Amino acid sequence: METKIRVLPAEVAGKIAAGEVIERPASVVKELVENSLDAGSRIITVEVEEGGKRRIAVMDDGEGMIKADALRAIERHATSKVYAEEDLNAIRSLGFRGEALPSIAAVSRLSLITRTHDELSGTQVRVEGGQVKAVEEIGSPPGTRVEVTDLFYNLPARQKFLRGVRSELAHIIEVITRMALAHSSVGFGLKHNTRVLFNLPPTQDEHSRIRAILGKEVVSQLVRVQGSTGYGEVRGWATVPTYCRGSSKGIYLYVSGRSIRDKLIFHAISEAYRGFIPARMYPVVILFLSVPFSEVDVNCHPAKMEVRFRRGEEIHRLISDSLKGALSHPQEVRSDEISEIREEMASYSAPASLAPDTGMIPTPLWRMVGQLKGTYLVVERDEGVMIVDQHAAHERILYERLKRSLQGKKASQQPFLIPQPIEVKREEKELLIEYRTELSAVGLALEEFGERTVTVTSIPSFLQGEDLPSLLEALSEELAERGKGDTIEHVLDRICVFLACRGAVKANRRLQEEEVRALLREWEAFAQPATCPHGRPLFVQWSWRELEGWFRRR
Ligand code: ADP
Ligand code: MG
Repeated sequence: METKIRVLPAEVAGKIAAGEVIERPASVVKELVENSLDAGSRIITVEVEEGGKRRIAVMDDGEGMIKADALRAIERHATSKVYAEEDLNAIRSLGFRGEALPSIAAVSRLSLITRTHDELSGTQVRVEGGQVKAVEEIGSPPGTRVEVTDLFYNLPARQKFLRGVRSELAHIIEVITRMALAHSSVGFGLKHNTRVLFNLPPTQDEHSRIRAILGKEVVSQLVRVQGSTGYGEVRGWATVPTYCRGSSKGIYLYVSGRSIRDKLIFHAISEAYRGFIPARMYPVVILFLSVPFSEVDVNCHPAKMEVRFRRGEEIHRLISDSLKGALSHPQEVRSDEISEIREEMASYSAPASLAPDTGMIPTPLWRMVGQLKGTYLVVERDEGVMIVDQHAAHERILYERLKRSLQGKKASQQPFLIPQPIEVKREEKELLIEYRTELSAVGLALEEFGERTVTVTSIPSFLQGEDLPSLLEALSEELAERGKGDTIEHVLDRICVFLACRGAVKANRRLQEEEVRALLREWEAFAQPATCPHGRPLFVQWSWRELEGWFRRR
C-alpha cells in the first residue's frame, strides 16, 4: 500500500512558513527595517506604493553584506545574529530567527542589493516565489536595499485578505512610528506613492523625536517616567492625567528596544491612571523596559510582537509604581504653553464670553485663599470652605458653553482671515464632513476641499492657537468611535466633552486671583455643576459648621 504521509515540497513548506511571519505589507516593512536597524544603519528610508501591496523598498546605510552572505541571507534559518543555542538566551538584536528574508522571498518578487563599506561594488540577488533568478555584481552605495514587489502574488488566498490601500498604509505608518520612537538616533523616511509621510532626521534628543512624531500638543503634556527595582528598569514618558484620548493607540511599549504588546503592562498602566482619567479614556505613554535577558522570552510569537516575563508581578509593580510616582510629582509647565493659557484666560475677563444669559452676574461671595499643588483652588465662601479642581472646573465651563451653543446660542468663535487648509486622511475627511453641521454649531466650521483636505474657517475661540492637524485627527478619532447604538445627541455630547478637554486650563499652573474669580463666576452662572464632563468631582467643600465641629467649637 502506498504511504499516505509525504514531506511537503520545499516551495509549499516555504509558503506555509512565510504566512506566519508575513501577514501583510506592514510585516514586510517591520522585518526589513529591523534588519536595517540590526545592521547599524544611521538613515533608513522606506518607500511604498499602493499601501505596500504593489511595492515596498527599504534602503539603509548599514554594514551591508558580501556576495556569499547575500545569497545565504535568503536561505531558511540563516542568520548572523545567533550562532549557537546559548546565544538564544542573550538576544541583543531585533532579528534572530533567520526567517524574514526567505519568508518574504517565498511570497513575492524580491530584489536584494547590498554592498559592504570595504567593497567597491555590490551584489544584486533576484528571487521570485523563493527561486533565485539572478545574481549579479552591481554598482551601489554601501548599505542594503531590499525591494519587494507584488506581495502574495503566488498566494491568492492571502492576497484576498489584504485591506484597502489606506488601511494597509495605516499599518505601515504604525510600524514605522513604533520603531522611530525607540530609535531617535536613526533617521527615518517614509514615502507613499509620491507623498512624503515621515522625514525624521537623526537626533540625540528623544523628546524632539517624540514631538516630531506625536505633535507638540501631546509632548507638552508629557512627564518623565523613571523607575527601577533590583530586577529591572523602566524609563519613558507619560501624559498628565488631565490629558486623555478615546483610544489606547497612544500607548507604546518596548522591551529591550523591541516594540511589543503586552496585557500585563497595559493593565499596570491603567491601574496607575485609575481614578484620574475616566473609563474608556487613555493616556499617551511611551515606556522602555529593560530586564535581564534571562528573564524574558522574546521567542514566543511568530512576529515577535509578544514577550513572556518570568516574573510578571514584579514587572507589573515596577510599571505601575513608576507611573504613579511620575504622575504625583507636579510638573513644570513650559513657558510657551503658559502664554497660550494666559490668552485663553484673558478671554474670561471679556464680558461677552462671560455674561450668562440673564445678564446678571451674582456678586462674588468668595475669596481666593490660595492654590495647592498648582492644581486646586482654595476658596472661602459665606457658607464655608471649598477646594476646586481648576482643570475640571474650566473643562466643565467650556463644556457648558459648547452645549449652550448647540441650543442655538452663538458660540464665541475665532474666524480665520484665510481659511486654513488642513490635510487629513481620507476617512477622517469623510467623518468631519459628515458631522459638518454639528461641528459648526459648536464653532468649528469647515469645508470640503479636495480629496484629502478640508479648510477650517473658524474654531471655538478657546481653542485659539491649537495645532489644527492634530485637533482634527483626534476629533475624527473621537467621531469614529461612535458606536452603533449612539444617538446623534450622544455624539454631539462627546464632541463637546472632547473639545472642552482640549481647551481646558491644564493643572499645575498658578492662576491669578482675577482669573480664579472669572472662572468661579462663570461656574456659578452655570448653576454650579458638581462634576467635570467626564464625571469626576469638581470640588469638595466643608461648611463652617463642620469645621467648627472638628475643633469642638460647637
Ligand atoms: P534575522 O534578522 O533573523 O537574522 P533575516 O532573514 O531577517 O534573519 O536576515 C538574515 C540575515 O541577513 C541577517 O542575519 C543579516 O546578517 C543579513 N541581513 C539582512 N538584512 C540586512 C541588512 N539590511 N543589512 C545587512 N545585513 C542584513
Ligand atoms: Mg531579520
